[in-house]
Amino acid sequence: MAVPISQMWTVATYVLKKKLTGRKRYPLVLMLEPLFRCNLACAGCGKVQYPPHILKKQLTPEQCFAAAEECGAPMVAIPGGEPLLHPQIVDIVNGLVARQKYVYMCTNALELKRRLHEFTPSKYLTFSVHLDGQRDDHDFAVCREGGYDIALEGIKEAVKRGFRVTPNSTFFDGTDPNHVRAHFDEMMAIGVEGIVLSPGYSYDKAPDQTHFMGRARVRRLFRAILSNRKKTWKFNMSPLFLEFLMGDRNYDCTPWGSPAFNIFGWQRPCYLLQDGYADTFKELMETTRWEEYGVGSGNPKCANCMVSCGYEPTAVLDGFGSLKGFFAMVKANFSLYPDKHALDLLNEQMPTGPSSLVQITEPERELAKQ
Ligand code: SF4
Ligand code: SF4
Repeated sequence: MAVPISQMWTVATYVLKKKLTGRKRYPLVLMLEPLFRCNLACAGCGKVQYPPHILKKQLTPEQCFAAAEECGAPMVAIPGGEPLLHPQIVDIVNGLVARQKYVYMCTNALELKRRLHEFTPSKYLTFSVHLDGQRDDHDFAVCREGGYDIALEGIKEAVKRGFRVTPNSTFFDGTDPNHVRAHFDEMMAIGVEGIVLSPGYSYDKAPDQTHFMGRARVRRLFRAILSNRKKTWKFNMSPLFLEFLMGDRNYDCTPWGSPAFNIFGWQRPCYLLQDGYADTFKELMETTRWEEYGVGSGNPKCANCMVSCGYEPTAVLDGFGSLKGFFAMVKANFSLYPDKHALDLLNEQMPTGPSSLVQITEPERELAKQ
């Protein structure tokens, strides 16, 4: 695992303290969405379809800091939209770093290289760069030719300047696991800290509704990708979550582990679903009917979800929550998962590349940029 020891220690002691105080539900990562607008309009995105007057809105730095303090999670992910379009994003990041939050600033990196000089390398700051695989796969997924090359330049420059960088990939049906494994090789050769990956979630609002996978297909794909690992690959994720994706573990969702705050307030129940909003974090925790979410609830909106924001907190709590979980996590860190059947999966006829993912039209792209 690529996560630095200091960050692991912070998370482990945080979980231990919560356990000792008997807290049943508590957050690990705040999903802070300071804005929804973006300079891309990806086919699988569920965030940039808001009307223009919503896309123009953004959180102030003070609202971001208040949310981080109210929530108290040791890590803050800043997705969007594209955070680099926020005029005060540097103040927001610096303020969170000053509060000793481990910040994962998500970006599609179209602006990263040009803006890097505004940020300061820190163990608390990671650029989590949206990169959905190799050049053709990424450009197709983000509906932008040349997007991969620009993002790669940003990644290389960030690594060169001493920033923590984690390419962050979302995979949909039709993904060729051989391409993904080659993508891992390319990323590790560049010197990134570790890789982050997740299956896509079937947002109601996403333009492409045909390439989201059911759970069996997710497991099959990730078993092919993540078995027979190379020693050089590093992942900036819980190894138990990766085992969950491969079908080796059964977890249910802990949506309160990654609470989401945006211009509407605290989103119920998670970053993906919108079943209303709470005005305060306390209200979110105390009044959300958590039992109605997760795969075990029977909620059809959760039936096929295996997304990291719901299930990685479960894996982290499992890993740091008991000795058994801890030893499983340590063992997982050293395993290369040899698997003959998974090798066969790699040799099966796979799609030769993107074929029919919905593409965003130019008017839609312009609307997302307004
Ligand atoms: S980069 Fe793509 S997925 Fe991310 S917010 Fe922009 S449009 Fe959505
Ligand atoms: S299963 Fe997925 S969609 Fe449902 S609450 Fe958990 S993270 Fe959200």
